[in-house]
Formats: sequence, structure tokens, C-alpha cells
Amino acid sequence: MKTGGSAPGSQSSLRRANRERVVETLSAHGPLTQVEISGATGLSPATISNLVRDLAADGEVALSNSVRNGRRAVLVALAEGGPLLAGVAFGDRDIRVAIGTGPNDVIASQRMPLPQDHHADEGLDRAARLLHDLLVDNGRSVPDLDQVALGLPAPVDSVTGAVGSELIMPGWRGVPAAAELETALRAPVVLDNTANLAAEGELLAGALSRVSTGAYLKLSHGVGAGLVIGGRVFRGSAGTAGEIGHVTIDEAGPVCRCGNRGCLNTYVGSPALIAAIAPSQGPIGLRDIIARAQQGDPGCRRVIVDAGRHLGVAVAGLVNLLNPEVIAVGGQLARTGDLLLDAMREGVERSAIPSAAASVELVLGALGDEADVRGALLRAATARSARVG
Ligand SMILES: [Zn+2]
Repeated sequence: MKTGGSAPGSQSSLRRANRERVVETLSAHGPLTQVEISGATGLSPATISNLVRDLAADGEVALSNSVRNGRRAVLVALAEGGPLLAGVAFGDRDIRVAIGTGPNDVIASQRMPLPQDHHADEGLDRAARLLHDLLVDNGRSVPDLDQVALGLPAPVDSVTGAVGSELIMPGWRGVPAAAELETALRAPVVLDNTANLAAEGELLAGALSRVSTGAYLKLSHGVGAGLVIGGRVFRGSAGTAGEIGHVTIDEAGPVCRCGNRGCLNTYVGSPALIAAIAPSQGPIGLRDIIARAQQGDPGCRRVIVDAGRHLGVAVAGLVNLLNPEVIAVGGQLARTGDLLLDAMREGVERSAIPSAAASVELVLGALGDEADVRGALLRAATARSARVG
């Protein structure tokens, strides 16, 4: 069980969860009447009335008079100029940060590359400096931050708050990442997996909007997934659901850094793609493979198509298990568009049961590279709301 929090199912944890739902709903839909919030959340009008009164008292929402369907109505909206939030999303080899008052009100965002297999201290230090510079450039400063959400491209154990596998991010072994960033920024930091945050972003305002069962796949140097069940991101019992990169697609395949054989990552991670093309094109990076594939280079196109087919096999497993409506694809490989998606669709059609394959739509994410920081801002907004509630 989580330490420090109230037990799941207790009155205060229920109330906190309900507050988060109201904030999420207002983030997604904009200003609503209390009746509309009740309809969207499924909570009773009396509960909504209490929550809105508390949120207004805390300055998180603002009330205004309006007319709805010809009748006078009070609209509830997230307060403008409200508390300043930050999202920090680590990719395998970059950091993206954003500041805003909510996921739909991004003030500024910025990206910085990161060396492969960097140490956690270096990564967190760069993230803090990047955030500091972004705040100063926008006339704000670090003490203005009310809440930060931090995303890492690794399983994040919600029980310990640490990276759930030391083998997947070796430089982050045993590092309490959220606590260290909290010390650097002097603001509360909530930790999640980057693919989960991107799924939150696409769920809020992108390709997964209004989707009940779905998934977000982040395809860059490695593969990550955020699962959506019942219209919400599903994190599993300890927060590590969605590790599709370590799903076995060939028991006799190459040994993965996690210690198992034939993980999806060993076929579609950037080292595999680079190894496939290097004999004919010499030393090359992932970015170049993608650019050359877009320009029509047959070798690079072939590498992307092969990766798409391997992805299709793993996604077929996901399709069989979840029966999703939509799978949204983002990350660097998504820049190759239909070249990748068509190969993935082929793999899904070949390996998934026909009825599940026929009902899933494989699409590009709508938010591009911003999906994870947008989701991080939403996560920060709900974490702050839960904290002050
Ligand atoms: Zn693995």
C-alpha cells in the first residue's frame, strides 16, 4: 500500500478522486454547468455542488453567469491565471518541458537532446535548468511553480515511486527521481511513465478523445505504451502496465537489455534499425533513417516496414486482449506515417482474431511531440487538485 496517503476507498481518497474527475472534465470540455458536469462524470448533482463550492473556494475554478438553452445558468470553468504547473517528459534521448496553467493552456514548451545512457543526476539537472530558463524567458520563476508532473520512459512503480526496472534505465537505478526533482524545484512532483502521460494528452484533446478502450504507442528509440480502459489511462496494480516493448515476439530471438529473449524492443528499437541498415549505408542515426525513408530511400523504407510488421505482431496481441477501438501512434517513427501504419495494419490483420482486427482503428496521434507534456500538465493539474483538496 502507498505510504502517506489515505487508504483507497476512504472518504477523503474518494473525495480527492472526485475532485480530480471534475478538474479533468473541465480541462477536456471547457466551461460547463453543474448539471453538465454531473452528466459527464456520472456523479450526483449534490456531490458536484459540494465539489464545485470547494474548488471555487480554493481558487481552482471560477463561476460566471451565462445563458444555456435560453435559460440563465452558472458556468464553471478552470480559473485563468491559476496556479502555474509544469510537465517534464523524458524520452529515451531527450527531455521536453512545458509550463502552463493547465493542459489546454500551455504557456511555453521546449525540448533538449540527452545523451544515450545518461545518469539520472545529469538528466534531472538538465530538466531543472531547462525549466528554469523557460520560466525566466516567460517572465516567471521557479518559486511560481505549484505542481510538476515528471514522465520517465520506463515502468514507474507507483508503490515505491522508483523506476520499476533497473535494467531498462540503467543510469536511473535506485534514484528517487520525483524526490530529487522536488528538492531541485521546491515544488511537489508526481511521477508517471511518459507513454501514460502521452495517452492522457491524446485522451484529453487528441486521437483518443472520447475513446473508451484504446492505447497510445510511443515509437522512438524504444517502444512504450499507455493503455486506456473505461476512458481512463490504466496503470495496472503497481503502475507498470503497458510495457509492450518487453513483450516477447520470438522466444529464440536476441537477448534484450531486460534479460529476456526476443522482446519487441530488440526488433524495433533504434539499435536494431541501425544495425539493419548500417551494412549498406554506414553509420547512421534514427533521425536519418526516418528522413531518408521519407525521401524514398528503398533501404530505409524497408527497415521501417519491417519494424511496422514486428510492431503489428505485438499490437495484434494487444488487440486480442483488449479489443480496443483506437490505437494512436506517436514518437519519432510515427513521422513516416502510412509507411509504418500500413505495415502495422498488415501485421495486426495477419495475427489478431478477425473480429478484433476489424474493429480497431490504427491512427497517428493528433498532438505529435506535445502529447506527453500536455498529458503531464493534466496530471499536474489533477495532482494539485488532489493535494489541496
Ligand atoms: Zn526486454
